[in-house]
Amino acid sequence: MMLEKFSLAGKVAMVTGCNTGLGQGMALGLAAAGCDIAGVSRRPARETAAGCDIAGVSRRPARETAAKVHALGRRFVAIEADLASAPPQALVTQTVDALGRVDILVNNAGIIRREDALNFSEQDWDAVMNLNLKALFFLSQAVAKQFIAQGWGGKIINVASMLSFQGGIRVPSYTASKSGVLGLTRLLANEWAPFGINVNGIAPGYMATNNTQALREDAERNEEILARIPAGRWGKPEDLQGPVIFLASAASDYVNGYTLAVDGGWLAR
Ligand code: NAP
Repeated sequence: MMLEKFSLAGKVAMVTGCNTGLGQGMALGLAAAGCDIAGVSRRPARETAAGCDIAGVSRRPARETAAKVHALGRRFVAIEADLASAPPQALVTQTVDALGRVDILVNNAGIIRREDALNFSEQDWDAVMNLNLKALFFLSQAVAKQFIAQGWGGKIINVASMLSFQGGIRVPSYTASKSGVLGLTRLLANEWAPFGINVNGIAPGYMATNNTQALREDAERNEEILARIPAGRWGKPEDLQGPVIFLASAASDYVNGYTLAVDGGWLAR
């Protein structure tokens, strides 16, 4: 009986950036809990036969996530959009047209740019802020309007970072954007709680994905990072599945505006 509160049967979740990494892990967790998924992903820009772009970074189309969601017996709708420029309302309309409703939004898509603050370019500032903060806000706004029109509330889960709590180094726009995500999560939670909408965040620690490939390949940095994580390992996309199911389900109906660290103890240290 108690576990029914964690069930997402009959729900629909929009998950941004779910072709790979943490977004894929969370989409699969939500599907395993009973949810149909609308995956908002960028069309692969320059795909080679190997499925990689020229820089060797994975640019997998959402097909892999779709196949895995289908294998769990759930529906998957691929919505191709560059979130930095796509009109958010159109993404909500596509989801509702295809799946009939939307109950959960996971704002996962995010990028990082590394450079000394003294040399950091306006381009790297704008690219990160536009996706990580501005697109997150306006997609949340469009989805919240849909939740209110539907009349039964909803759940928004924003992906924050350790750099929502700490300063970091050489990532000024990322720190600014993720610190902004933490504050915005609180503000939106305050404004939308009266509509039965819960807005919360998940702050992943150091997770093994494309985003951190360069760090993991730098032997010295890799060793420093591992030595500071009490759990003694990099996180995996699956580590976010329990937390995202909790925050997407009725089990967290009285949790508002909180950002949960999933970090192997990094912040506790
Ligand atoms: P990732 O493997 O690089 O995946 C990022 C996802 O965002 C990809 O699906 C990517 O699509 C998508 N994306 C990027 N720009 C987009 C755009 N303009 N429009 C639509 N989709 C876009 O990164 P990740 O590590 O899974 O990160 C996911 C989230 O967790 C991010 O918000 C990140 O900041 C946060 N995070 C990660 C870590 C970590 O250690 N990995 C730690 C803390 C927070 P493409 O494949 O097309 O680029």
